[in-house]
Amino acid sequence: MLSGVDHDVPDGIGMARLAWTRLPTADGEGAGPSTSAVADGELLSAAAMESLDYEVIENYAYREEQAQRSKFWVPYYVMLKWLFSLLIGVGTGLAAIFINLAVENFSGWKYTATFAIIKHSYFVGFFVYTVFNLALVFSSVYIVTNFAPAAAGSGIPEIKGYLNGVDTHGILLFRTLVGKIFGSIGSVGGGLALGKEGPLVHTGACIASLLGQGGSAKYHLSSRWVRIFESDRDRRDLVTCGCAAGVAAAFRAPVGGVLFALEEVTSWWRSHLMWRVFFTSAVVAVVVRSAMNWCNSGKCGHFGAGGFIIWDISGGQEDYSYQELFPMAIIGVIGGLLGALFNQLTLYITKWRRTYLHKKGKRVQIFEACLISLVTSTISFVLPLLRKCSPCPQLDTNSGIECPHPPGTDGNFVNFYCSKDREYNDLATIFFNTQDDAIRNLFSAKTFHEYSAQSLITFLVMFYSLAVVTFGTAVPAGQFVPGIMIGSTYGRLVGMFVVKFYKKLNIEEGTYALLGAASFLGGSMRMTVSLCVIMVEITNNLKLLPLIMLVLLVSKAVGDFFNEGLYEEQARLRGIPLLDSRPKQVMRNMNARDACKNQKVVCLPRVSRVVDIVSVLRTNKHNGFPVVDRGLNGESVIGLILRSHLLVLLQAKVDFQNSPFPCGPGVLNRHNLSDFVKPASSKGKSIDDIHLTEDELGLYLDLAPFLNPSPYVVPEDMSLAKVYNLFRQLGLRHIFVVPRPSRVVGLITRKDLLLEEDSNNVMAELPSTSV
Ligand code: ATP
Repeated sequence: MLSGVDHDVPDGIGMARLAWTRLPTADGEGAGPSTSAVADGELLSAAAMESLDYEVIENYAYREEQAQRSKFWVPYYVMLKWLFSLLIGVGTGLAAIFINLAVENFSGWKYTATFAIIKHSYFVGFFVYTVFNLALVFSSVYIVTNFAPAAAGSGIPEIKGYLNGVDTHGILLFRTLVGKIFGSIGSVGGGLALGKEGPLVHTGACIASLLGQGGSAKYHLSSRWVRIFESDRDRRDLVTCGCAAGVAAAFRAPVGGVLFALEEVTSWWRSHLMWRVFFTSAVVAVVVRSAMNWCNSGKCGHFGAGGFIIWDISGGQEDYSYQELFPMAIIGVIGGLLGALFNQLTLYITKWRRTYLHKKGKRVQIFEACLISLVTSTISFVLPLLRKCSPCPQLDTNSGIECPHPPGTDGNFVNFYCSKDREYNDLATIFFNTQDDAIRNLFSAKTFHEYSAQSLITFLVMFYSLAVVTFGTAVPAGQFVPGIMIGSTYGRLVGMFVVKFYKKLNIEEGTYALLGAASFLGGSMRMTVSLCVIMVEITNNLKLLPLIMLVLLVSKAVGDFFNEGLYEEQARLRGIPLLDSRPKQVMRNMNARDACKNQKVVCLPRVSRVVDIVSVLRTNKHNGFPVVDRGLNGESVIGLILRSHLLVLLQAKVDFQNSPFPCGPGVLNRHNLSDFVKPASSKGKSIDDIHLTEDELGLYLDLAPFLNPSPYVVPEDMSLAKVYNLFRQLGLRHIFVVPRPSRVVGLITRKDLLLEEDSNNVMAELPSTSV
């Protein structure tokens, strides 16, 4: 017997029934929620991660469960999926409204109080402004460090990892959701150089995951009747909807949300999912719009006029000449260079933080965030004081220019340290303002030149530095808005230059600011299609589409020349083993056997002694074990058993038997079927928590009814590149490498798979074996 001993991959006899490659099936029942949070959001390590199981484990339990399902199960399942898409849209939309409402109101109170006080004393005004910011940032960092460590950062690298097949513990917990929402309010309201858009993507994903698991069991907020989507496959679909909803809510860009999920986060896609994601994004758009309409009448305090990103620059430059393409391409190059530099600097700083700073504990993290808040407040208050004010243009209803009245509160242009009422301070207009208003100002496409080059350069240098330093602090932080602000500043600078150079053309600086924003995001995040659509949706100007496409392509190409995109770099730094869309070149010259050279496969015999199973689980950290059976023809692999299933069996003890011979199926009525149908994750369960007596350790366990009888198998000489593609496209967790089989029992072609379809369309949604 092979109990608990290292064992080479057995001969492939009997493997013919195991699939070489299989069509992806639609569904499976899967892992429960993550139950543990990482101790420190920064210190995520590979050990804190585990792969997800997207595979359908077609064991006896699965088949039995399929047989027990009533005929109403299928419509119920499909209906619930759509209902959940709706709920995710509503939930994310409401969360976005809440965050925006809180941020706008906090900012509104802060600026109103500060502007009222500086009429009497600038020093006291500065003090109040700084303390207000400090209090908000402190609340944010305190929540994150003490309550929800996984809420730090944007969360996009972790969600990207999740949708790539890696579960980082703690990222989708209820407390992470709460931490993300309240933390974002503090960090964004506190004026740090970061945005709320990335965190909203994470918020949408958390809402989706929590809904999918029927609420939070830990906080007794769960409901059994909706707990139908516990499989990793279903949760992945819901989380994809959540991500799209997050972007749709953050930018009020529903199509951009769908494309963001498709291009940036998920590695896996299918048309049914596309429809649901589309539906969720549309729901978000409706929810957000309803709230905006309601709030516009002044019911929501400072929220309404300036809340939510929508920078409608229609009325600006509607056409472009070919001469402008060159400066626009230059904007793309600058975006690529500055974006790549941003990625590199943030990578170094994050590494340094992890190695030297954050290891010292929560207090250091809190102190760091508060210090950055003080520096940010000082820079944003003091630098505008050094600028001279400019007179407002003649108030012209068509120009849309809103010079401050009353000074500095609501208007886009801020009257700050100006001697006259009808003057504005251009640096304060972008520095001493809410982010959304600042961007609206930078994008504004009006007939006069609102900003001096000196102010724009000052802002660019200072804000870029602040954004780099702020990235990686222990607060929820998105990079979209800082990226847009940085990009629109140098875009506008280029625009000013072009206006001077091509005097005869109708050129708007605001248009160049928009292109600059797109170029920086393209250069840093390396998104193209989704970003392009998001930019068009938020500016409401379709005519600029070709220009945005141009700068995005240039900036991405330039950025790619230097390093990887921001999220990929950060994911790698956090130890998330992301599988890129393409295998490395070297894999073409390697085969499957090379990838597992010198590996001694740890197998379990079909009927194992309990003591041997315990020993294998104690001495190995692996989550899957091949199961072998000894027959007349020698030894053959009969499937794969998951660690989590072994733990369930050891804990339940009901299948222990005295006999070392197979007992066959029929034992399942003693179990909760779902424990074996779901490829339940072993998170939260440990072999050390299971206590067995001496007698129990001497008994036997037949693993056959619980194993996955058809795991994916590849021949040892298949190229590693091909294995890679298979692994990634099917979202696999384990793949067996076997010797070349000696005979073929059949051959399947496309035509063999075109079976007579049941007329019911909804069947396509279901696991292959259930239809
Ligand atoms: P995941 O961590 O993705 O959930 P896993 O825990 O089953 O999967 P790991 O233990 O993390 O797998 O894999 C680490 C290394 O051990 C890999 O090189 C893998 O090929 C190898 N490995 C995994 N399972 C076994 C096994 N049963 N016997 C021998 N080597 C294994």
